[in-house]
Amino acid sequence: MTNASPPTPILEARNLHKRYQSRSGGETIALRDVNLSIYEGDTLGIVGESGSGKSTLARILLALDAPSGGEVLYRDQVISGLKERNLRDFRQHVQMVFQDPMSSLDPRMRVHDLIAEPLRSLKLVTDEHSQVAELLESVGLPTSAARRYPHQFSGGQRQRIAIARALGTHPETLMADEPVSALDVSVRAQILNLLTGLVRDFNLTLLFISHDMAVVRHLCNRIIVMRQGEVVESGLARDIYEHPQHPYTRELLAAAPRIRPKPKPSASTGRIVH
Ligand code: ADP
Repeated sequence: MTNASPPTPILEARNLHKRYQSRSGGETIALRDVNLSIYEGDTLGIVGESGSGKSTLARILLALDAPSGGEVLYRDQVISGLKERNLRDFRQHVQMVFQDPMSSLDPRMRVHDLIAEPLRSLKLVTDEHSQVAELLESVGLPTSAARRYPHQFSGGQRQRIAIARALGTHPETLMADEPVSALDVSVRAQILNLLTGLVRDFNLTLLFISHDMAVVRHLCNRIIVMRQGEVVESGLARDIYEHPQHPYTRELLAAAPRIRPKPKPSASTGRIVH
């Protein structure tokens, strides 16, 4: 009999610490001893109120910032030690969608070039025109969008462009940092539905950051709750939603807007019944 070896996490954080020094000499501890593992096919939600360290953690997991202590491993290799080829592989396979597409998309570039840019820089262009068209289609935008500029779109459409740009390199992992919190409530659900479909169709591993437990519930099967730079609770989403252990998790759940069923039109009058 052979023992199957345990799966290797795609990304792993070990004992991450992050300190920020302010000009006045003060210090903020943004992360304290954070450990997590992300496996293929995971949909992991990181929740916590503003300032709890979620974005700092995402930036460090993406190698956009260095930890003050601890390390991040990408498929068992320490990220800070990745050689150029492996770093390129990492950049291709782990992509990010930010909260505000207006600041993450260069306003002077046409949508075609915004989507084609990562393909060009990672030398993944085969037929640029049809690659861009296909990506636009996969996020529900018409191919004519390619000729326009980001400011010509609504907030939700801009987030679709940012998602198309992130998907172009065929990532295995998508990180999304508050991708719907700048959007109107009505648009939020559309983008969450889009992400749910893409995770399924593209077999994506998802790391989804939000201050809102109601939003995370739509998408994630595992959850990590952060407070003041520390992980206070983690586990399966359904366990955490049904039996939250930490008082802070219970507070977050109480603050999350209830998801109410849509009001149904009355059969006799056609009026909305609440
Ligand atoms: P969240 O994403 O949960 O809102 P952040 O990771 O942005 O939290 O911030 C965690 C803490 O680190 C906060 O106290 C924030 O003020 C501080 N912080 C974040 N980035 C910086 C920075 N570049 N310089 C100084 N302090 C920072």
